[in-house]
Amino acid sequence: MLMVDTDAVAVERLLLAGGLACPRCGGVLRPWGHARWRSSRREQGAVRHRPRRASCTGCAKTHVLLAAAWLLRRADAASVIGSALLAKAAGAGHRLIAAALGRPASTVRGWLRRFGARAEQVRVLFTRLLHSLDPQAGPLLPRESVFADALEALGRAGAAGVRRLSPRPPWEFASWASAGLLLAPPVGW
Ligand SMILES: [Zn+2]
Repeated sequence: MLMVDTDAVAVERLLLAGGLACPRCGGVLRPWGHARWRSSRREQGAVRHRPRRASCTGCAKTHVLLAAAWLLRRADAASVIGSALLAKAAGAGHRLIAAALGRPASTVRGWLRRFGARAEQVRVLFTRLLHSLDPQAGPLLPRESVFADALEALGRAGAAGVRRLSPRPPWEFASWASAGLLLAPPVGW
């Protein structure tokens, strides 16, 4: 899997021009059909999309090109999950968040637990990223929980990414920078 920009036309152009590198060996990726159709959910409702697939001219491994609007193995957009995380950090419970987002309470509870288990890793990753993107960045002040600290680091790094790299919605930046693994099991990246 390789995290790519959400602009499918730009990604296709890059792929055809040999501008995407294999995450395993750094070799040039070439088009290799498509992955299966997926049904995913944004704020406004369900969308069907079919990620591009590419194969490596170096190691021959194939990779799904996943747009940074999504997270690995999650049906909901990173921005939907992100708004649930922010609401939790602001003190809301999972049932209230689920009702506001129109998602099952068990789904939202799963997101919050998974992020909570990974929060320290997320905090460390995005704090490093913040300081590499912006060496002048002021320190991150500890908040009331590691959960909130992780979101603070993520938001500050996202803002630094916009200034330094390109305008990009914060949760797309978070997904891209974590290789889609924000809610993956807490074992390395
Ligand atoms: Zn390769």
